[in-house]
Amino acid sequence: MKQSTDFFLLEKNGIDILVKKFLEEHKVFGPIKPGHDSTFDEIKSPKELHLDYISTVLPPKKFFHPPTENLFSFELIENTEWTYKETLHDEKTVLIGVHPCDVHAILRLDRFFSEDFRDPYYLSRRENTIIVALNCIEPSEYCFCESMGTGPFLEMGYDLLLTDIGKKYLLETGTYDGKKLLDGLKLEKADKKDLYEKKKLLEQAKKKFKRHVNTDGLSALLDDDTHDWDIWTKLAENGYPGKSFPCLSCGSCSLVCPTCYCYDVYDVIDLSLKKGVRKRELDSCQLLEYAEVALGGNFRRDRRERIRHWLMCKFGMAAGGDKSGCVGCGRCIRICPSKIDITEVARIIRGE
Ligand code: SF4
Ligand code: SF4
Repeated sequence: MKQSTDFFLLEKNGIDILVKKFLEEHKVFGPIKPGHDSTFDEIKSPKELHLDYISTVLPPKKFFHPPTENLFSFELIENTEWTYKETLHDEKTVLIGVHPCDVHAILRLDRFFSEDFRDPYYLSRRENTIIVALNCIEPSEYCFCESMGTGPFLEMGYDLLLTDIGKKYLLETGTYDGKKLLDGLKLEKADKKDLYEKKKLLEQAKKKFKRHVNTDGLSALLDDDTHDWDIWTKLAENGYPGKSFPCLSCGSCSLVCPTCYCYDVYDVIDLSLKKGVRKRELDSCQLLEYAEVALGGNFRRDRRERIRHWLMCKFGMAAGGDKSGCVGCGRCIRICPSKIDITEVARIIRGE
């Protein structure tokens, strides 16, 4: 539920008090830095939290739509009668330190998992999770959220929002649930000067992006079936000289993408043939088996077709709008072993 916004100030070590409060009644997940890269994981003590991070390899999508999960178990009790036990998650959870692009990605996933059908497994996690977002002051070299209208600062989709304004954090409430989480904490109120500082930091952050995409008319260009784009053949067969190698169809780009939701469902049956588990795991349209059907038929056997399909999903439908499949997080660029850069592809398509 959207509420009027309250603005508070938090000392840098005040985050510890906040996390301790969350831990009283919730499981808390946030960015930690166990090695070279940051990753979202469970926080058992405030000391583990590492808010000063650029990006994680896997997005927080993994908490709502995990790489692999058990949906339900089933068992035959009579000749034709089965019982089912669903795996629904009702644990109260706080996800802290989520960047704006990843919040926008979660909002897109919400639509997918609740509009045409309601997915109880995704929604049970989502409805029990409070999002404490963190605005981005320093975009990474791969980010282009500003072009996609999803960052670097957030205007929607959060319960609480943090902005590092130098010596302190500005803390904003976004929903009633977020506000309630602060009950009992004695927090200093922010004033106009602090809000001005936030505005100033936003303007500075916008200037720091190294990657940009001009989304104007991009989806219409891609959806134009009359155009025979030779870019797909190049990406599939040779890569762009001096820029990329051919796509390897490894699927890494879609597996790290915070908005890719495609999945596979299969049953693991017990040897008794009387019980089993229905599982779901992330799938990728870049993989050969993705569009395979009975008798070995395959709707997208060619690599060219697969990379085209993925990029159409990211930029084709409504690039830059709230229906775009891309939120500009830059993960696919960073992870691609063939150095395929989605922003470069957009530029080539536009003839720039
Ligand atoms: S990560 Fe790169 S090489 Fe792998 S499927 Fe994606 S575009 Fe192709
Ligand atoms: S397509 Fe790439 S840049 Fe866009 S949201 Fe997915 S991983 Fe991020």
